[in-house]
Amino acid sequence: MNDAREELPFDILFIGGGPANLAGAIHLMNLAGEKGIELEVGLIEKGDEIGSHALSGAILDPIALEELIPDYLAKGCPIEEPECRDEFYFLTRNRYFNVPFTPRYMHNEGCCVISLSKFTRWLAEMAESLGVNIFPGFSGTGVIYSSDNHRITGVATGDKGIDKNSHKKSTFEPGVDLTAKITVFGEGSRGSLIQEVDRKMGIFSDKMPQVFETAIKEVIELPDSNHFLSSDTTVMHTFGYPLGLHTKGGGFLYKMAKNRISLGLVVGLEYENPLMEPYRAFIQLKQHPLIAKIIEGGKVLQQGAKTLPAGGYYTMPSLAVDGALFVGDSASMLNTQRLKGIHTAMKSGMLAAETIIPALEEDDLTRRTLGKYESKVKQSWIHREHYAARNFSQALSKKGLLKFVHLGVQYFTQGKGVNDPLPIEADHTTLKEMGDEKATEVSVPMANDFDGELYVDKLTGVYLSGTQHVEDQPCHLIVQDMDLCSTRCYHEYRNPCTRFCPAQVYEMVEESPGVRRLKLNPANCLHCKTCEIKDPYNNITWTCPEGGGGPKYSIT
Ligand SMILES: Cc1cc2nc3c(=O)[nH]c(=O)nc-3n(C[C@H](O)[C@H](O)[C@H](O)COP(=O)(O)OP(=O)(O)OC[C@H]3O[C@@H](n4cnc5c(N)ncnc54)[C@H](O)[C@@H]3O)c2cc1C
Repeated sequence: MNDAREELPFDILFIGGGPANLAGAIHLMNLAGEKGIELEVGLIEKGDEIGSHALSGAILDPIALEELIPDYLAKGCPIEEPECRDEFYFLTRNRYFNVPFTPRYMHNEGCCVISLSKFTRWLAEMAESLGVNIFPGFSGTGVIYSSDNHRITGVATGDKGIDKNSHKKSTFEPGVDLTAKITVFGEGSRGSLIQEVDRKMGIFSDKMPQVFETAIKEVIELPDSNHFLSSDTTVMHTFGYPLGLHTKGGGFLYKMAKNRISLGLVVGLEYENPLMEPYRAFIQLKQHPLIAKIIEGGKVLQQGAKTLPAGGYYTMPSLAVDGALFVGDSASMLNTQRLKGIHTAMKSGMLAAETIIPALEEDDLTRRTLGKYESKVKQSWIHREHYAARNFSQALSKKGLLKFVHLGVQYFTQGKGVNDPLPIEADHTTLKEMGDEKATEVSVPMANDFDGELYVDKLTGVYLSGTQHVEDQPCHLIVQDMDLCSTRCYHEYRNPCTRFCPAQVYEMVEESPGVRRLKLNPANCLHCKTCEIKDPYNNITWTCPEGGGGPKYSIT
């Protein structure tokens, strides 16, 4: 057994195989080709293949794609539905109202519907054809720094073949130290490495707290006879029921190819009620008369969950440090107002590429040259979009009708609103403690709601996500204080992790009357990271499991 870690040097290393980094890698190769510069470029992805951890809506604004690959249609870009014809509904428990006025940012003319999983696989083919070395099944588990700790020099991948007691198995393979002149972090929402960088280099200091939303999404196949398939509508958004007006979020339903639809619910994680269960709310959305009628006779093909960074402009970190750049959702590039982040992620990756080439030419890999990426973002449409939406997430977090006052003022003041900046609270701080009088008010089971085909329970959903992890490995979910779960957390919040996790990773088992213990099912994990974000005591840390583990999305 060879235990020694090897070093694999690259010129440029991309961490994460999402649209941000894939667009960045393609653009970089094109620019280097034009200048006759030869580059060794690597990209790692923790999913077992590119696209297997990609889950999105997704309506694609093609603005960045048109710039990156102008003949994308001729090159076989997988489009599910070429035209977006919007409808916007307000839902009450049993009724729905087609909102006559759709805010300008919710218009999707000129956009198309894609599956991010298919789209990233296609982008990866483009990148590989240009010479990018793509390594799926490799998790970045640690940042490598120069000896003086001032510069990032690469990323270490995790060892494989370690058992749950941290001993080496016969299948042991040591991780690799991937070193690079410049490392580009595009880990998506709540990246674990970017947080490590923040702890060392403070890239998020002085910023507003990052806030997030959790989304549960399904791809549903409808029967040929389904009336929605022949209707003109291709894109629907809803607000109101089941979240009400105190919780940020809403539903989406997009038409896809082959009689399929994408249906999802986005839930703002600043919610206050510890009994709130996003998965249950998603089922309630499906049962609503408007949606139930559309999906009647359908069958869930795939299900999954993921978080979105919703904070926007005021939560963006410093985008460059010595030796590294930060792109896409990791760097809060998602525009919550438009529920879109693919185009901004791609553009940020491309601007990173445009910064890297001159930095290499000048042979200066410090923040002095890499910092120009920040100015490029500021001069681009990413900034214009974000600046106009700079207080949107905060306004949406307001309770009840106050939300509409804030949104209205922002609408007519190009984002300035009542206060600029409007403050926001971190998601883990917002749960309200339960009083003892509510001790029995735990969520009721939803068993009767499920038929196993169109309405599926959490565990069937996990099965439909294809998620798999090597069982005999160290638990990738670190619960710092297990006693807290059975004592304080039970009394104060009735163990909200058992509800906010969409994959039943967390369970409280009663070992004897009144003696409870937290049981973890890490193999179910969908890598959404809601637990790390919403846990009220910051008691849970999500780390990357052995590379290749996790969901196996293919059409989400
Ligand atoms: C339900 C939902 C609906 C959405 N709808 C839309 C929409 O309609 N339109 C739109 O434009 N946007 C939408 N978005 C947002 C959009 O999907 C994201 O903004 C976009 O995917 C961000 O791209 P990214 O490359 O930054 O990150 P990601 O797409 O998240 O990709 C990051 C990749 O990095 C990998 N990774 C993470 N950490 C590591 C590590 N340590 N080592 C190796 N690999 C790692 C991950 O597995 C992942 O594949 C939606 C998001 C969700 C969740």
